[in-house]
Amino acid sequence: MRSPTRGPGAESAKFLGSLRRVLPVEARPLPSVDTRSVRRYADESTKDGERPVSTQPFEIVDDAPVEVLAAGSGRPLGPTGRPMPLFPDPAPLDSHGPARIVAMCNQKGGVGKTTTTINLGASLAELGRKVLLVDLDPQGSLTVGLGVNPHEVDKSVYNLLMERSCAVDDVVVKSNVPGMHLLPSNIDLSAAEVQLVTEVAREQVLARALDAAVPDYDFIIIDCQPSLGLLTVNALTAAHGVIVPMECEFFALRGVAMLVETIQKVQDRLNPVLAIDGLLATMFDPRTVHCREVLARLVEAFDDKVFHTAISRTVRFPETNVAGEPITTFASTSGGAYSYRQLAKEVLARCAAR
Ligand code: ADP
Ligand code: MG
Repeated sequence: MRSPTRGPGAESAKFLGSLRRVLPVEARPLPSVDTRSVRRYADESTKDGERPVSTQPFEIVDDAPVEVLAAGSGRPLGPTGRPMPLFPDPAPLDSHGPARIVAMCNQKGGVGKTTTTINLGASLAELGRKVLLVDLDPQGSLTVGLGVNPHEVDKSVYNLLMERSCAVDDVVVKSNVPGMHLLPSNIDLSAAEVQLVTEVAREQVLARALDAAVPDYDFIIIDCQPSLGLLTVNALTAAHGVIVPMECEFFALRGVAMLVETIQKVQDRLNPVLAIDGLLATMFDPRTVHCREVLARLVEAFDDKVFHTAISRTVRFPETNVAGEPITTFASTSGGAYSYRQLAKEVLARCAAR
C-alpha cells in the first residue's frame, strides 16, 4: 500500500511548509490561473512538436488604462495569479535621454539575466527606445549572445573601467538590432574586480564611466555577473533600478532574500535612489504546481514588485544563444518574443507611473 507521506501532494506540501519557513507570509490558497493565459504562455515550440499545446491566442480585447484594468474585475488572471493588465503601446519619442540605468542582477547563475538583458533591450528598441547594453560579466555571455566575438573587440568594459582616457564611445559597438548598442566584455574584466579594490571610490567607477552616455540613451541595462562582488556593487551604485530575474524554484526565494539585503546596503551607503524595479519570473512552467506555488509565494512576499509578465521555459532561448540574436528577431512570433515585448511595455508603464 502507498504511504500517505509520499507522492506529489505530499511533496508539494513539504515544499510549501519549507517556503513558509523561509518567507514570513500568511498562508493563502493558491490563486487559480486562467487556463487561456496559461496556454498562451506555454504556447511555444509548436513547430518542433515539443509540447502538446493549444494555439488559441491569449486575447485581450479592451483598451482601458493599466491601473483601471489591474484594479477591475473580470480580467483574465495572468501567470502570477493576479488580473493581467493590458500594457499600452508607449507613445513614440521625438528625442532621447536621459537614460534610466537598470542593473539586471541575481547572484545565482543561469536564471536568465543575460537572456532578459538581450531581449528586454531588443523589445525596448523595437518600441523606439535607444538602448545601451553593458556586459559586466567577464564570461562575456551578453557579448556572445549578440553575435560579437569577445576576443576580437578592440576595447572592452575593462578598458572603460580601468583607463581614465577610455570613454564609452571608444568601446561601444552596434548590435544587429537598430537602436541597440553594446559595451562588450571578455575575460579581461575578471582582472578589474581585483584591480578596482585599490581605486579611490572603487564602487563608483562604473557610474562615472557611464555618465557621458546617459543623455544619449533611454535605457542603459547592465548585465551583472552571478556574484555580489565589487563589479555588481558598481552596477547597483550606477543604477536607478534593479530587475531581478529568477527561476520559479524554492532555492531562488532564499537567494532573493540575500540579494535584497545587498540592495538595501547599497541604498543606505552608496545610492539612495536605487529602487527595485521588479522581480521577473523566468523559466516558468505553468503546468507544474511547484512553479505556480513559488510564484504565488513570491507575490505574497513582494506583492506588486513582481512583474505581471512571466517568461516561460522554452528551448527557443538556448537556440537564440547559438544564433547570436534576440528572440524578437530569431523567432519573432514565438511566445518568448511576445513575453519580452510585454515585459518591455510593463517596464515602460512602471517608469511612467513613477
Ligand atoms: P544568467 O545570465 O542568469 O546566467 P542566462 O540568461 O545566460 O542566465 O540563461 C542561462 C541558460 O538558460 C542559457 O542557456 C539560456 O539560453 C537559458 N534560458 C534563459 N531563459 C530561458 C527560458 N525562459 N527558457 C529556457 N531556457 C532559458
Ligand atoms: Mg549571464
